[in-house]
Amino acid sequence: MIERGPLNIVGAGPAGCLLAILLQRRGFEVTLYESRRDPRGGPGESGRSINLALADRGLHALEVAGVYADVAAGMVPMRGRFLHQPDGTELLQPYGRRPGEVIHSISRHRLTVALLEVATRRHGVRVEFEHRLTDLDPAGGAALVQDLRRGRTLTVPMGPLLAADGGGSAARRCLSDRGLVHVVEAGLDHGYKELSIPAARDGGYALAPNALHIWPRGNFMLIALPNTDGSFTATLFLANRGAPSFAALDTAPRIREFLSTQFPDAYRLMPACVDEFQAHATGFLGTVYADPWNFKGMVGLVGDAAHAIVPFHGQGMNCCFEDCLEFDASVGAESTWEAALGRFQAVRKPNADAIAAMALENYQEMREHVIDPKFLLRQRLSLELERRHPRRFIPRYSMVMFHHEIPYRIAQLRGAVQSRLLDELTADAATLEDIDFERAGREIERLLSPMPGDHAPT
Ligand code: FAD
Repeated sequence: MIERGPLNIVGAGPAGCLLAILLQRRGFEVTLYESRRDPRGGPGESGRSINLALADRGLHALEVAGVYADVAAGMVPMRGRFLHQPDGTELLQPYGRRPGEVIHSISRHRLTVALLEVATRRHGVRVEFEHRLTDLDPAGGAALVQDLRRGRTLTVPMGPLLAADGGGSAARRCLSDRGLVHVVEAGLDHGYKELSIPAARDGGYALAPNALHIWPRGNFMLIALPNTDGSFTATLFLANRGAPSFAALDTAPRIREFLSTQFPDAYRLMPACVDEFQAHATGFLGTVYADPWNFKGMVGLVGDAAHAIVPFHGQGMNCCFEDCLEFDASVGAESTWEAALGRFQAVRKPNADAIAAMALENYQEMREHVIDPKFLLRQRLSLELERRHPRRFIPRYSMVMFHHEIPYRIAQLRGAVQSRLLDELTADAATLEDIDFERAGREIERLLSPMPGDHAPT
């Protein structure tokens, strides 16, 4: 068993907070070092992805950590994609077949505050706000943390130091600068901008509330997620350069012209969109591949610090929460930190790589394919095959979003087999009536082994 004692985590985001709760519960005395101010008592930071989609993997981790009840009141269920097509027609595509197959919109600020409250008040985790990790000294076994209020630098022992300091991780950068970790930061040529749709005059929602709204436009898209106060947070995903692009939208008239012609219905609901467009920074999107995720049992990377992904599957934070459960299990299973950090990476890296790839694929699906008739037929057929063969055929989207018991890597592998089968079955089909379901059944029996667990027909 790893000896219990003081343990330092850098970064009090979703991953750092949940990890602190789990490890404090295991008997460690956790201190979190966070570079920002204490978010409790203040409003959230606008312009930085203020709400997130929480799905089964994240919910499961919150339940295991005993935090679910503390965040549930802040969640708005979303039952499907609500598509706003260029010709003005609208279409609701349900995410799954079963009533519980929904995802939840939650405010990042509210979630962080709830996690911090549970960590500090219920479990006694210590949090040092306005403390920034600036450097690591692997030879000396210590990290340098700057106390931003008092202007002094602390030396924090790395026995170990767990780095949950996000996609731009300073810990990862320090390790990579010293050649101790190989890092690839693959930036996307698209960025994002946050806009807002306020509540309607009567305080209600200006759009259907229980859905994730998408305005797919081929090479770019707008999405909107509901908040509990009747507003929506909208995000524009667009190329950084070219036409159209963030670089080209450099004056108020150009921004107004673009938004009002591409998204006329949404534009009417966003009175401040031009000001917000100019005030909010364009966010960077990319995938981080790091290897290894640790250094000699002294430093371990967790969450986005180890594997930031693009947000198009709504899984980044869900994946980070799963990390926390696996990290906690690894600490319970091993007798040294080096072994625990190694086990954590061995289990999680194949899964993190799988969701990274699936998230990239989903970008094209969201902005382009969702309005393609062939895609819609494949989607309907997937749900029908799941209804007929619930233990063997589960749509890939459902495996990722609604089945925490199916690892990402398995979802990716089975999804590839299913995708080929869907290609074959829909090659000459225009509707479900054209599908040869007997052949489908035979192929499913041949290609897809039954899944363990309860996948009863409904
Ligand atoms: P972070 O949330 O980045 O937290 C890191 C923390 O470390 C921060 O509090 C930061 O202040 C602190 N920190 C940073 N550097 C230092 C330092 N040097 N010293 C001390 N502290 C430091 N995920 C989903 O699951 N669903 C979604 O719908 C979704 N939507 C997204 C939309 C967008 C536009 C983006 C960009 C991301 C989205 N994500 C989503 C991904 C999700 O935001 C991340 O996966 C998640 O926030 C990662 O959590 P983390 O704790 O690892 O890192």
